Amino acid sequence: MAQPLKGREVHLKSRPKGEPTKDNFELVEAAVPEPTDGQVLVRNHFMSVDPYMRGRMNDAKSYVPPFKLGEVLDGGSVGQVVRSRSPDLKEGDFVVGGTGGWREYAVAPAKHYQKVDPSVGPLSAYLGVLGMPGMTAYVGLFDIGKPAAGETVFVSGAAGAVGGVVGELARIKGCRVVGSAGSDAKVKHLREQLKFDDAFNYKSGPVAESLAKAFPEGIDVFFDNVGGEHLEAALGLMKNHGRIVLCGAISQYNATAPTPGPRNLMLAVGKRLTLQGFIVSDHGNRRADFLRDMGGWLREGKVSDVSTVVDGLDKAPDAFIGMLRGDNTGKMLVRLVKDA
Ligand code: NDP
Repeated sequence: MAQPLKGREVHLKSRPKGEPTKDNFELVEAAVPEPTDGQVLVRNHFMSVDPYMRGRMNDAKSYVPPFKLGEVLDGGSVGQVVRSRSPDLKEGDFVVGGTGGWREYAVAPAKHYQKVDPSVGPLSAYLGVLGMPGMTAYVGLFDIGKPAAGETVFVSGAAGAVGGVVGELARIKGCRVVGSAGSDAKVKHLREQLKFDDAFNYKSGPVAESLAKAFPEGIDVFFDNVGGEHLEAALGLMKNHGRIVLCGAISQYNATAPTPGPRNLMLAVGKRLTLQGFIVSDHGNRRADFLRDMGGWLREGKVSDVSTVVDGLDKAPDAFIGMLRGDNTGKMLVRLVKDA
């Protein structure tokens, strides 16, 4: 009789106070259950580490429930169906899911996965430019920021998974786009590889000063991934009727107490600004448009598939902690199958 399948998974051992450490995680080997009716067994090739997971490590109510102590973490994954008990997916299909990450093998209802076409882009791209971060950039910029050709766009966190795509989409739209990032190497990447019109290192000086130099004529659309000092500085430079897309506030995710500011929110009144938050999972109705457009732009070389890859499930906590510190350029991924 065949040995039951075993796989490694990463559990939440303790909740972080401030910045997560490796002690908050535990690598565990567990039996992989057989799929039941409607389920599939997927061998993960890549898993995603994302900023929102930091919020789920706290015992706090949010738009997604907290991770449970002593249980496997969860998140995005791409892989191949090994066994299927569903008519919708067959063995050998490549799939992406918002779930099933942080483990080598996942068993889940087939409806939690979407079949992907590996000829459009590499499998890993379905966690980046062709996946949730790309879709965040697409709906956030086009549906909420609504930039017009010739307008000016500022992106914070520009060298990351979402930010890089926002910049390239703004260029496709015919906008002038400037990004901020946390190192000179990332600034060079934005200017040279992603063809941003300009970029600056936010660690080199006050954001307000760098922004004033980059936008002498003001900002029409600000796509904010960072919050805090970035948001305050951008408010000061927004043009009348400008739009601020509130995508994230990563400068505050490890904060242990509520963070005040921006201090100049009153400017939104006089400048008639629109500030709008959004959550990408509310915009599933745009997925077909997104895949059509982004797949086409990827083939034409108008958007880039940029990632930083860490090998092995045992390194997933390092990848996550490193992503929060800025170790990644493009999408931070963990590769679980050698040569995937
Ligand atoms: P990234 O790939 O951008 O990785 C995170 C980056 O944040 C790091 O590389 C680092 O880059 C930067 N960072 C970390 N700390 C700070 C800080 N104190 N100040 C400025 N930058 C910092 O992640 P994603 O692209 O996946 O996510 C980007 C943002 O989008 C996050 O805020 C995330 O929560 C949000 N998001 C929102 C979604 C939604 O539905 N609203 C969906 C997906 C993501 P650097 O070296 O430049 O500091």
